Amino acid sequence: MANVRPNIGPLTEAAAAPARRLRIAIVGYGTGGQACALLLSNDGHEVTVFERAAAPGPVGAGFLLQPVGLAVLWQMGLLPQVLAHGAVVTRLYGETAAGRPVMDMRYGDLDARYFGLGLQRGALFSVLDAAWQAGRQLHDDCTIVDVDAEAGKLTDARGVRHAGYDLVIVADGAASRLRGKVTPARLNRPYAWGAQWCLVEQGAWAWPAELQQRYVGARRMAGMLPVGTRPGDPVPRLSFFWSMPVSALDGDASARQWRGELQALWPDAAARLQATDVPDGLAMARYRDAVHARWSRGRAVLLGDAAHAMSPQLGQGVNMALLDARALRDALRREAAVPAALAAYERERRAHVGIYHFWSRWLTPMFQSERDRVASLRDLVFHPLSRVPGGRGQMLRVLSGTRRGWLGSFALPAGFLDAISNECSESTVGATPSSVRGVL
Ligand SMILES: Cc1cc2nc3c(=O)[nH]c(=O)nc-3n(C[C@H](O)[C@H](O)[C@H](O)COP(=O)(O)OP(=O)(O)OC[C@H]3O[C@@H](n4cnc5c(N)ncnc54)[C@H](O)[C@@H]3O)c2cc1C
Repeated sequence: MANVRPNIGPLTEAAAAPARRLRIAIVGYGTGGQACALLLSNDGHEVTVFERAAAPGPVGAGFLLQPVGLAVLWQMGLLPQVLAHGAVVTRLYGETAAGRPVMDMRYGDLDARYFGLGLQRGALFSVLDAAWQAGRQLHDDCTIVDVDAEAGKLTDARGVRHAGYDLVIVADGAASRLRGKVTPARLNRPYAWGAQWCLVEQGAWAWPAELQQRYVGARRMAGMLPVGTRPGDPVPRLSFFWSMPVSALDGDASARQWRGELQALWPDAAARLQATDVPDGLAMARYRDAVHARWSRGRAVLLGDAAHAMSPQLGQGVNMALLDARALRDALRREAAVPAALAAYERERRAHVGIYHFWSRWLTPMFQSERDRVASLRDLVFHPLSRVPGGRGQMLRVLSGTRRGWLGSFALPAGFLDAISNECSESTVGATPSSVRGVL
């Protein structure tokens, strides 16, 4: 039998908060850094965040929150806020240009209460930012260039030293320049393929509750993900992805070619983009694969993409960063000494992250590469495999973020499942059901 581990605890754990108040520095105010700042400040620690952006804000495309990530936000008391903006996604569907289904998965086939939530980065950033007010110390426009892990000391790009920290959390993202100052990376490799992306108005889009993708071999992948609204902008939007080799991302041609190619591959998406004010040159995203034999040394620890960058093929990175932050908070509650807490955090998270690293590394070339034969095999095998009862369950577990190791699984808390149980049936952008408000 699978090892079912109820490792997501109850919503309020104030009694478990640590007695010792730590001075904690966090490098990076992305999802991981934001979640840590909020959770650790709430536990009474003195938290200072260093962020290189002059005006911290969301960077990057819209994304899909999985049930595991939503459960962390529920524990943080932020579920109503994200549900008020996000788009409920019940199905992930992808087909070839010839109309052959490659992927067709519904969260409801794993558990009738499960769904994903498409969200704009701006929405999650604003929700986490607004929640972190108590004891807030955020140094923006402050790039950290050095970390002394043993002494708990940082140096910024202006040469100013920031010292005396009991704990330094390095959450500076996939392209981290600091990860090697904490522990050497066993693997730190950029992917040869990336993506262009933009947000477009949802309008009368035919699939408001589905991630839809179209493929031409592994050389072309177009995607549309409903991502709802964000504070200050009530227009529901879709996040459009267009896969391409990194070498082409930098070329001029990419800016002009994609419209024509999209028209041929997926006229519905081309029409949606035409109806909205989209620039020819889209934003670009690059991915990286990074593996560390250890995640901490002395007083410093890696978190989020800095610890385990992976391709977004499985749509897990934001969820992982949220889970990392909660696991670190919990370990600091349980263990009196910082090194013991860091070791416990790493043990807990490694057991979950490893399988996602593995699958994203293997799946990415099937969807983003020049390997035509691999893509043909994918087109033949994927969909039939997802219809087999055992295979379907395995795929859905990985997708929902609830796979732990090869056979184990996370059990999501009953209270969380009750809170979201009314959400699967239809898209409820902007409408927070009373069950969710009631729980919090
Ligand atoms: C195209 C694309 C699609 C994706 N889709 C999904 C999805 O659907 N679902 C999902 O869960 N994940 C998705 N991801 C992954 C997700 O975006 C990341 O895993 C997640 O943002 C990682 O959070 P983080 O806090 O570790 O890093 P980041 O969010 O990258 O934050 C790092 C922060 O550190 C700051 N920083 C960097 N260097 C320094 C320095 N030296 N000093 C100070 N500050 C610094 C940066 O400015 C930034 O604010 C996607 C990624 C991409 C590229």
